[in-house]
Amino acid sequence: MPRALCTALGASLALLAAACGKEGSPPGKGPAADRLPHYRVAQGFTLPASRTWTRAKKRGYFVVGAKEDQPYLGEKDPATGTYAGFDIEIARMMSASLGLPPHTVRFRTIASANRETALQNGQIDYYVGTYTINAGRKKLVGFAGPYYMAGQSLLVHKAERDIHGPEDLDGRRVCSAAGSTPYQRIRADYPKAVLVSYDTYSVCVDNLLTYQVDAVTTDDAILIGYAAKAPGELKVVGRPFSKEPYGIGVPRSDNALRFALNDALEAREKNGDWKKAYEATLGLSGVPAPTPPAIDRYPAS
Ligand code: GLU
Repeated sequence: MPRALCTALGASLALLAAACGKEGSPPGKGPAADRLPHYRVAQGFTLPASRTWTRAKKRGYFVVGAKEDQPYLGEKDPATGTYAGFDIEIARMMSASLGLPPHTVRFRTIASANRETALQNGQIDYYVGTYTINAGRKKLVGFAGPYYMAGQSLLVHKAERDIHGPEDLDGRRVCSAAGSTPYQRIRADYPKAVLVSYDTYSVCVDNLLTYQVDAVTTDDAILIGYAAKAPGELKVVGRPFSKEPYGIGVPRSDNALRFALNDALEAREKNGDWKKAYEATLGLSGVPAPTPPAIDRYPAS
């Protein structure tokens, strides 16, 4: 299919990559569903001190905010509406630890810029989607975890020779998601870069594939997935230039939920579920399971 036609069709990234990938190139691998662990549901679990948990228990399921266009992490199958990926597995294993079966979780796609509002408005019970824990966000929401450590990186065309790190972005067009820490870092530390923003990284990647921007910047964990979906076209360059500890976002006032999630994460890391989930999702990108970062048990606020 000619590239112009692909662009004109405005196909989703997955379709674009599948249709426009070099002939004979392998499709990006999805999560290995058969290798996903079954999470044991905590019996008789109660958490009456948590308003969020009490509401979810009454309803019968958790409503969890996530991403739908981040390969290996949080991806929605447009045909079935099913979500898959490492973040999705974290969300499901947390539900099991809080006493509600993992398959009952209902996911809602929430973009980077809308996460704090969604948690503050009670639109979602918790959020699992490449959500960096930092001091500014802690003033607005609570964070359990971290459950993974990522780092900001750059995605460019395979043929790009001049961009190796953020210092090479002067005068170049670089795309990131509005409201994200990578966007904020480029704006603050590399003001000579020409920053472009969209709601999602997949739109940035579409812009990169059609040569409207020179680079996409966000966490390495996210970029590796896009590179794998467009084999032969894109590459991740340089070394990560930040630390992005991924947390589970919760309503700020719900300390009971935050503490219970911290305990649940620690237990799932200990019993091997975390590692199994990683290996069946993000691990398919070729990076072996790291040791998860230490949980940040900051006091009640
Ligand atoms: N981890 C970064 C953030 O929380 C970038 C990824 C994202 O936008 O979800 O802002």
